[in-house]
Amino acid sequence: MKEASKNYDVIIIGAGPSGIFCAYELIDKKPDLKILMIEKGRPIEKRTCPKRTTKVCVGCKPCSITTGFAGAGAFSDGKLSLSPDVGGNLPEILGYDKTVELLKESDNIYLKFGADTNVYGVDKQKEIQEIRRKAINANLKLIECPIRHLGTEEGYKIYTRLQEHLLEQGVEMEFNTMVKDIIIEDNQAKGIITDKDEIYEAPEIVSAIGREGSDWFSHICGNHGIETKVGTVDIGVRVEVRDEVMELNKNLYEAKLVYYTPTFDDKVRTFCTNPSGEVATEYYENGLAVVNGHAYKSQEYKTNNTNFAILVSKNFTKPFKTPIEYGKHISQLSNMLCDGRILVQTFGDFPERKTYN
Ligand SMILES: Cc1cc2nc3c(=O)[nH]c(=O)nc-3n(C[C@H](O)[C@H](O)[C@H](O)COP(=O)(O)OP(=O)(O)OC[C@H]3O[C@@H](n4cnc5c(N)ncnc54)[C@H](O)[C@@H]3O)c2cc1C
Repeated sequence: MKEASKNYDVIIIGAGPSGIFCAYELIDKKPDLKILMIEKGRPIEKRTCPKRTTKVCVGCKPCSITTGFAGAGAFSDGKLSLSPDVGGNLPEILGYDKTVELLKESDNIYLKFGADTNVYGVDKQKEIQEIRRKAINANLKLIECPIRHLGTEEGYKIYTRLQEHLLEQGVEMEFNTMVKDIIIEDNQAKGIITDKDEIYEAPEIVSAIGREGSDWFSHICGNHGIETKVGTVDIGVRVEVRDEVMELNKNLYEAKLVYYTPTFDDKVRTFCTNPSGEVATEYYENGLAVVNGHAYKSQEYKTNNTNFAILVSKNFTKPFKTPIEYGKHISQLSNMLCDGRILVQTFGDFPERKTYN
């Protein structure tokens, strides 16, 4: 092993939105901190996906869509759900009021860096009330959530400004570098080892590795005897319809609807609606093909279709402990049916159970 090459006050693994906001807050509150962000992908200006022009995925390693500065957020639709009632389980960890406060703070940072000032879902109370009435009649719960939409192309620009800002503030960034291991001594994280066998040391190590790094991180925890908690498995399909069919769009950017199945009381929910948007195939490192959706802000790139996901959220009990592998396995099985691609089914074929790839 080589000698420790550099020392920092804080090392942040991963430069996705979590890593970025962590660095932003730290340098804002303590400008003298020596911070290093280590990211296995590329800086934002070097993130280009060949598939956007060739329509064929060439399997870049690492993938430019999911890794690099801004992580999976760089080319995402950039919908900011401004309510603690949707998203992860932050209110359970921090409390409801603190989560509201942090959401406001994060939203203000996006606004400072150029986000659209419009918020969907706060006006039109009468129309929303009518949607709720129809939802109740259909056994659905409408979750109210104000949405700010950055837009795929505008989100990229906002993250470009954030990268410039952090660099100007003296945050160091090491790209194309994967963290291989975390050095832990006496129950304390002391440093990291990269795939180039370099060692960086810091008394504080932040792991902000997102879904992309979750496999790696669960192995690291396993190797170091760190206990982990099993997360929710979300499995579903992405639905695409003509904008005209999606009447909900007129008054809500995204209608978050929840349904509990009568047989097993499973939670089924709509997720990530993209009015006038596009469905995109994404490939993960092991060749896994999945679908996602996004929408541009500019009129020029808008389509006539709305897409959204319908997900079943399932929490399994002991001895189950591999939610990510389980989800991947199910996706792999559906990929297998169509030679590594994604299954497509038209609405007309749905009752007849026909699928295409
Ligand atoms: C197409 C698409 C659309 C989306 N739309 C929305 C949306 O509209 N609204 C919304 O809120 N969310 C959306 N999301 C989800 C959102 O992008 C993620 O919730 C967000 O990116 C999570 O941030 P993160 O920092 O936790 O993780 P990530 O963004 O995944 O970032 C983690 C970073 O860590 C790096 N990393 C991982 N392991 C290592 C390692 N060992 N060494 C070095 N680097 C490592 C990765 O390369 C990555 O860049 C979308 C995602 C996609 C893909």
